[in-house]
Amino acid sequence: MPITKSEASRLARRTGMTLEQFTWSNNGILTLLNNENTKACVFLLTDSSNKDAEGLCSVYDIRPKGCTTYPYVLDKNDQVILDLGCPFKESFPQPTEDDAMTLLNLEERLMRGE
Ligand code: SF4
Repeated sequence: MPITKSEASRLARRTGMTLEQFTWSNNGILTLLNNENTKACVFLLTDSSNKDAEGLCSVYDIRPKGCTTYPYVLDKNDQVILDLGCPFKESFPQPTEDDAMTLLNLEERLMRGE
C-alpha cells in the first residue's frame, strides 16, 4: 500500500516505529512493508499467512487513505477498478466517479512526493 509522507509521519508518531521498520521505497514512493512471517501488512494483527485468516488493523483509526478506499484501485490506465486480488470484492458496489477522483488525487500527491 503506497502512503504519503504525512501518513508515514503520523504512523511513526503513533507506533514509535521508524520509517525503515514499516515502509520501503517503491520507485521513490513510500509503501507499507509486509511482515516476513504473515506476508501481510506489518500493521495487520494476524498470526497466519493464510489470506483468509482473520486479522485486525492495529492503526485502523489513522490508516492511510489508500486503505480507506480499498478495494478500489487504479489500473495501469488510471481507471478505477475493484482489485481482483480482494477476496471480498463481490461485496462492494462498482466504483463511482467520486472514487476515481479520490484515487487520482491521492496518486497525484504520491507522485509529487507529498
Ligand atoms: S488497513 Fe491497516 S493493516 Fe490493512 S494495509 Fe492499511 S494499515 Fe495495513
